[in-house]
Amino acid sequence: MESLFLWFITLLIALIIIVPYYMKFRKTQKEMAARKLEAEKLGINKPRAQYPFIDVSKCIGCGSCVTACPEGDVLGVVYGKAVLINGLRCVGHGHCEKACPVGALKVGLGDITTRDDIPILDEHYQSSVPGLYVVGELGGLSLIRNAIQQGRDAVEHIATTLEPNVHETIKDVIIVGAGPAGLSAALAAVKHNMSYMVLDQQDPGGTILQYPRRKLVMTQPVEIPLYGKLTETEYTKEELLEIWNDIIKKFNLEITTGHKLEHVEKANGIFRVITNQGDYYSRRVVLALGRRGTPRKLNVPGENLPKVSYQLIDAQGYNNDHVLVVGGGDSAVEAAIGLARQKGNVVTISYRKSKFFRIKKKNEDRINQLIKKGKINPIFNSQVVEIKVHSVRLKTDTEIIEIPNDYVFVLIGGIPPFDMLKKMGIRFGGEMKPLVEPEVVHS
Ligand SMILES: Cc1cc2nc3c(=O)[nH]c(=O)nc-3n(C[C@H](O)[C@H](O)[C@H](O)COP(=O)(O)OP(=O)(O)OC[C@H]3O[C@@H](n4cnc5c(N)ncnc54)[C@H](O)[C@@H]3O)c2cc1C
Repeated sequence: MESLFLWFITLLIALIIIVPYYMKFRKTQKEMAARKLEAEKLGINKPRAQYPFIDVSKCIGCGSCVTACPEGDVLGVVYGKAVLINGLRCVGHGHCEKACPVGALKVGLGDITTRDDIPILDEHYQSSVPGLYVVGELGGLSLIRNAIQQGRDAVEHIATTLEPNVHETIKDVIIVGAGPAGLSAALAAVKHNMSYMVLDQQDPGGTILQYPRRKLVMTQPVEIPLYGKLTETEYTKEELLEIWNDIIKKFNLEITTGHKLEHVEKANGIFRVITNQGDYYSRRVVLALGRRGTPRKLNVPGENLPKVSYQLIDAQGYNNDHVLVVGGGDSAVEAAIGLARQKGNVVTISYRKSKFFRIKKKNEDRINQLIKKGKINPIFNSQVVEIKVHSVRLKTDTEIIEIPNDYVFVLIGGIPPFDMLKKMGIRFGGEMKPLVEPEVVHS
């Protein structure tokens, strides 16, 4: 009798512990499966560049990879196996790979012959157009360390292949993009006494400029040409930009801003680099454009007003304003949250879909709280039709409304530069066409 009682108590305790655990486990699994399905529908499960490959035969579903990822819901565990949920968010830290206790996960580009968003490059980052190099995130691999290393290595290779230059008007190398890859390439050009120019559509710094204020940036040790090692593992955005600005001043780097690259063509061994501000000539070209491309626009009347921006760097600069954020992804939601936390702002978010799908769980919870408190007014199924000096007109399913407005933030993503590269003749994975060099022969 006593032993039966003991069995009963043990069973009861086991049930008290196991049942709630099991229920929670089932709930999480269901949520993750739903997020995976949503992500697949929206195409955000597909990575922007590198992503974690999961060997399901080895995965034990422990979730260490999910916890290790600093970017949020890139990975999840669904029915006992790790799965890619929001591949678009992967920036390649590789923490998931290190955290996996059974080696079931690897971060990389996969089989690039099947990927039409990855240019085919040789081991020196030279594309299928000889003399035209692709470095940094544009080549498919994220991370500041990779960008610095690739920019440097491409120019080191150029230095070994260039004959002495006899044309003063033709540069040895034109570098397009002044992010970590382009700046590192420029430093390597200085080191090798090459004539060079760096062109960028914006100020130097690349994607780092778009990070939110005081974002902690994780880096691994890497050698910057002429400067030495970037030794710390963490910098704030501002510290990192200060390092780059000091480098630019110290080595007097020639950076021409406000120049948007439109095309590159090659004739008689010389490249013509075509920008919105004019053409430039060089013997080699290094493209360090990143993957974020040019911000997508609304194409509505009034979009050229100075109150319209395509990024929000510092929400603290906006107080007591009527602000409209357009978009429904993480950038838009984070901007709306940041602005709603400032004193006196009236924040509206306009999104063309019926709810937020594509965002991190953390952002979803935060924005829903602020919506409940009336701090953010969401207008779903809506589109901006006109931006006026003191107001904005929005079209919803049923009507056109006009709301007071001081600032508009359009955060609806960017157009990646892949088509432009393809027009230059650069081959991408996924294309099985034979290689034809797009040489333009002038008569
Ligand atoms: C939110 C976020 C967080 C991140 N966190 C980290 C982190 O913690 N650690 C880390 O190592 N990495 C991180 N990354 C990734 C890192 O920022 C990038 O991998 C790195 O900046 C890539 O450098 P890049 O020089 O190749 O390109 P970019 O930095 O993107 O620079 C590209 C440059 O090219 C210019 N350009 C583009 N198109 C044109 C054109 N047509 N004409 C002229 N100029 C053009 C752009 O204006 C830009 O200046 C993060 C990225 C994001 C978005």
